[in-house]
Amino acid sequence: MPISLDDPKKFRSLVGQAHQVAMNMLRPISRKYDLAEHEYPKELDMLAAMIDGLAESGASEGAGAAGVRRDDKQDDGSGTQSKNGANLASVMSIQEMCWGDVGLLLSMPRQGLGNSAIASVADDEQLARFDGVWAGMAITEPGTGSDSANIKTTAVLDGDEYVLNGEKIFVTSGDRADHIVVWATLDKELGRAAIKSFVVPKGTPGMRVERLEHKLGIRASDTATIIFENCRVPAENLLGSAEVDPKQGFAGAMATFDNTRPLVASMAIGCAAAALDLTRELLADAGVEVDYDRPAYTQPAAAAKFLQLESDLEGARLLMLQAAWMADNRKPNSLEASMAKAKAGRVGSDVTLSCVELCGAVGYSETELLEKWARDSKILDIFEGTQQIQQLIVARRVLGLTSNELK
Ligand SMILES: Cc1cc2nc3c(=O)[nH]c(=O)nc-3n(C[C@H](O)[C@H](O)[C@H](O)COP(=O)(O)OP(=O)(O)OC[C@H]3O[C@@H](n4cnc5c(N)ncnc54)[C@H](O)[C@@H]3O)c2cc1C
Repeated sequence: MPISLDDPKKFRSLVGQAHQVAMNMLRPISRKYDLAEHEYPKELDMLAAMIDGLAESGASEGAGAAGVRRDDKQDDGSGTQSKNGANLASVMSIQEMCWGDVGLLLSMPRQGLGNSAIASVADDEQLARFDGVWAGMAITEPGTGSDSANIKTTAVLDGDEYVLNGEKIFVTSGDRADHIVVWATLDKELGRAAIKSFVVPKGTPGMRVERLEHKLGIRASDTATIIFENCRVPAENLLGSAEVDPKQGFAGAMATFDNTRPLVASMAIGCAAAALDLTRELLADAGVEVDYDRPAYTQPAAAAKFLQLESDLEGARLLMLQAAWMADNRKPNSLEASMAKAKAGRVGSDVTLSCVELCGAVGYSETELLEKWARDSKILDIFEGTQQIQQLIVARRVLGLTSNELK
């Protein structure tokens, strides 16, 4: 079943629509909400309603982060079927939206990373019950970031409810989302297998947003600290199975990342593509044309650098497409998801900052968005697992070592 490197024809109109939305609805308000940190981008309500409408009419397959449920149809092993599904549609449309603005994409109602967690881990009943919610995802704690197996938030079964206690930090959309998917341990002694995710509706007694962060980039997106104090949720809000299976290890909760890491890669690629597009124009204005028919070494240094950045980005894009395509075709993609995230995260930061450099004072000035994209892209190399953590995962997978053997 070979991967085809052509963009699937059936997604061209979706990608075209996403690009139009990015250009006409996100770009015009990009600087406004970069400067007005923590102000809700009300323009997104109309956009979210449009996306919902498209999804309901079936005209769109995965217009946002929520569209990452894996198809239940098994690979029939014939090696001939190749499916381009919701994962591929999502990365391609999110890339375009992030060409518009990453912070605004992250603020889009009902398209949170918690929605991806629900789509990845929930059973059919839960999928139906949580349909249409807007969910943030709360993993990180004051003492636990990269080592997410070490989380301390607890969930204790009491009758037909779980009681949650703990502190979560840096929750994207933690203030605005109407639900939060919280990672908590059923029993710290049982290690990572006991970590489960719980859907907590906003307004549940015992849950409160403590503060919002001021940030380097993606300022349109709210990032919250949330405290859980004897916060009770119905037992059926535990996503997936409550069984603690040490053989399964972290697999259940971690399945979320196989879906979300290609999405974060697509955000980095979209933002970097925006920077390259503008840089190409600014270089042309300055008399430097990038010529694809001549070797880079015969061209001005700025054009040669541009070609190198563009080819790095293309490498990241192909890894992203591969990871998403594998998810659509029910192939285990943890390795490829981490490779895509590592490459896109690093290249995204490199490209956007290099574009600032290539454009000099104009690149650094607020008159253009290049400096903003350089700030926005950094987070995409940090959240959902940092650059170093992705490299660690790739190394473990390639060398066949466990997390205890390679730390
Ligand atoms: C704007 C923003 C939004 C976020 N949104 C969310 C969200 O929605 N939900 C959520 O749960 N979290 C979120 N986070 C948290 C994010 O996922 C963490 O910051 C990230 O996982 C890193 O954890 P940490 O900050 O504790 O750094 P640490 O884990 O303390 O790492 C610090 C540095 O050490 C490196 N490092 C750590 N371990 C190793 C190792 N074994 N080998 C080599 N290097 C290592 C890291 O790569 C990093 O460079 C967000 C963070 C930010 C800044």
